[in-house]
Amino acid sequence: MNNSAEKILDNIFDIMQNLYDEMRINADGQNNHLRVFEIFAELGRTLADADRASFWRWDKRNHKLLTTAATGTEQIIIDDSTGLVGRAISENRTIVTNDPYNHPDFNAAVDKQTGYVTKSVLVMPVANCRSEIIGAFQVINKIDSETGFDEISDAKRLSIAAFICGMALESDIFFADSQHDKLTELKNRLALQSDFQTRYEKILRDGKSLAMIMCDIDFFKRVNDTFGHNAGDAILKHVAKILRTSIRKNDGAYRWGGEEFILILDDSTLADAKNLAERIRQTVMNSVCNFNGDALKVTMSFGVSEISAGLSIEDNVKIADDRLYRAKETGRNRVIAD
Ligand code: GH3
Ligand code: MG
Ligand code: MG
Repeated sequence: MNNSAEKILDNIFDIMQNLYDEMRINADGQNNHLRVFEIFAELGRTLADADRASFWRWDKRNHKLLTTAATGTEQIIIDDSTGLVGRAISENRTIVTNDPYNHPDFNAAVDKQTGYVTKSVLVMPVANCRSEIIGAFQVINKIDSETGFDEISDAKRLSIAAFICGMALESDIFFADSQHDKLTELKNRLALQSDFQTRYEKILRDGKSLAMIMCDIDFFKRVNDTFGHNAGDAILKHVAKILRTSIRKNDGAYRWGGEEFILILDDSTLADAKNLAERIRQTVMNSVCNFNGDALKVTMSFGVSEISAGLSIEDNVKIADDRLYRAKETGRNRVIAD
């Protein structure tokens, strides 16, 4: 093996070692996935002899491209129809330019803002295992080179880091999807179970109080039976929006099951939670959901509890659920907190 091959392998082994060391240390951290992108952006930068490297996530729904890791700059967010990265993903091809200021797709705004001078760029689209483009890897300014990047040899060198970033991104997307309810745009039951272990148990251990509101739409089956299942779905979205906009940034709103929701309130007593539940009850009761010419109205029942540190999430939910059950038994459209 010649020297340069050995040097490249050494680089790879060092970076892998570094990655595993960090993952072991941060085993209970929540942002490990971001470190993976940073470490592999660094691997790509090293292997392509570039001054800078960035890995971009393509948010197809909002038509944006976002850097998940970038050397030398803060996170950058751009429209997905712009720039060299936008061109590379829309045409699914690697783009190299060693004269960027004369390239029609190059956006010089960042350089203008920061004073950085871009001399050469290579952008490579990154796919998931079904060959759908989900992001892009970009390197900037080939070090010690008059001519800049080479489309064949530098793309080859980058492919290993780009592939790993693609797999990490795909698993990140799967994870986020698995915790998200598509209909209501709230987090789902799995997310509450996971947030309880990663976030809420720690808050309780630190001696802060958390409260829970469990709520359920009254006579929801009648909405489906009278107006159809799509009307029922519209009501679910309508109620979810009221819940989402009634809480603060550090609180959580979850769809626990069909027409049952749970709110977790940060740093809140039973009395705080009871007041909020009462406000939400009135908001829902006084609101109208317009669907296909029908003005739909529903009410909700609420069970409120303080979360106990010693109990599992299921046992905590059972306490709130028993109160919700009593709210139903005693006439619905009410809040029970004891
Ligand atoms: P209660 O006041 O006692 O809560 O009565 P209810 O009719 O709301 O409760 P029940 O448990 O009898 O019915 C819940 C209904 O919710 C039955 C189910 O078909 C419907 N449902 C569950 N998930 C969805 C959904 O995603 N969309 C729609 N449209 N309906 C759903
Ligand atoms: Mg119901
Ligand atoms: Mg129910």
